[in-house]
Amino acid sequence: MTTRYDYLVVGGGMVADAAARGIRERDARGTIGILSADVEPPYTRPALSKKLWTDPEFDWDQVPLGTTEATGAELRLETLVTRIDRDAREVTTAAGETIGYGALLLATGSTPARLAAPDDDRIIHFRSAEDYRALRRLAGPGVHVAVVGGGYIGAELAAALSQEGSRVTLVHPDAVLGGSQLPASLAEGLESRFRDAGVEVLGGVRAERAEPAVDAVVVHLGDGRSVGADVVVVGLGATPVTELAEQAGLPVDDGVVVDAHLRTEDPAIWAAGDIARYPDAILGPVRIEHVDHAEASGRAAGRSMAGDTAPYEHTPYFYTQVFDVRWEAVGTLDASLPTLEERLDDDRVVVYYLDGERAIGVLLWKVEERRDAARAVLRDPPATREELVGAIR
Ligand SMILES: Cc1cc2nc3c(=O)[nH]c(=O)nc-3n(C[C@H](O)[C@H](O)[C@H](O)COP(=O)(O)OP(=O)(O)OC[C@H]3O[C@@H](n4cnc5c(N)ncnc54)[C@H](O)[C@@H]3O)c2cc1C
Repeated sequence: MTTRYDYLVVGGGMVADAAARGIRERDARGTIGILSADVEPPYTRPALSKKLWTDPEFDWDQVPLGTTEATGAELRLETLVTRIDRDAREVTTAAGETIGYGALLLATGSTPARLAAPDDDRIIHFRSAEDYRALRRLAGPGVHVAVVGGGYIGAELAAALSQEGSRVTLVHPDAVLGGSQLPASLAEGLESRFRDAGVEVLGGVRAERAEPAVDAVVVHLGDGRSVGADVVVVGLGATPVTELAEQAGLPVDDGVVVDAHLRTEDPAIWAAGDIARYPDAILGPVRIEHVDHAEASGRAAGRSMAGDTAPYEHTPYFYTQVFDVRWEAVGTLDASLPTLEERLDDDRVVVYYLDGERAIGVLLWKVEERRDAARAVLRDPPATREELVGAIR
């Protein structure tokens, strides 16, 4: 007999947790099933590259989200969904089981981009709790770790590992670390923090492939150089996992296309988090791979599945933390755009990214609790640059 849930979530990440809670806000009784390819119940993913390394008060017990305890959802781990039958309102798992649904949420997240390399325990494409544990086992004082990629995951891990005593080489393609997003003055300051912490920074070059040897892994760089390390951690960005939606014939355009209620063109199927391309109230059609969006869109999708008619109107922010620098952003951060920089004091900076006179992105460098002000600037842009100055204090 086919098992059936009133609400079925495919994926067991941060969206799944938020969605189950959103459903429960409106429906105390409906059955909720979560099918997850993961080996762990839903957990706080950003901790894997930050607090678990850098905050002595923070340990693994604070990472799981407690989804089943809070919502009564039935969670099946190590359960990969391979197919959706929209007519029968059923999904099929890799083990061949079919599971029915009243409302289905696709929350399959992202998969890390791969460096050309054979499978080897010493080469970690960093995304999951298992990856965190593997890196914990391998890294440590005196161990040489090559971090490939200067995005926020690579930068956070390079900082964390150097603070833990590993010898770190960071390979990234920008002329200066963060230079494709941050104004030059901030990017230069950021990169020098890494150097001051003893990180060897190899900028302006791409890693092409990694080759395991007996006592090292060799990372070959685009300029002919190579780095021999004990461990290689790869943070080269991620790709949304949209195959299930594609197979089911749902529109996919970079992400799974949903409306303002996070619903696909099939009225029984929703998508949220990293995989959803949705019409943001301020930014327009967009796909966002940030935790604030995972939590807010997951909750909104859950509420919508349970009958809420309110649209998803939250414009997400992004944050990252390396050493003592925490920065946040809303909208587009592209250093090739004209920018307007406003220093609030010696440390704190607001940067507006401009399209003509209009701000389309705001960076809050060490500026806390001003996200709503940043959203307001993007929603109702001041007409001139002069009026922008002082808009966020
Ligand atoms: C190390 C790390 C640090 C991060 N730090 C930050 C940060 O500081 N700030 C920030 O804004 N964002 C951060 N993020 C991004 C943020 O964590 C993600 O945007 C968020 O986790 C996305 O949630 P999700 O539920 O969409 O996907 P995920 O959390 O990736 O969950 C997807 C789930 O779907 C499962 N799955 C996939 N396919 C199937 C299938 N076919 N069948 C069953 N299950 C399937 C997966 O196993 C997984 O459980 C970080 C991400 C990582 C990896």
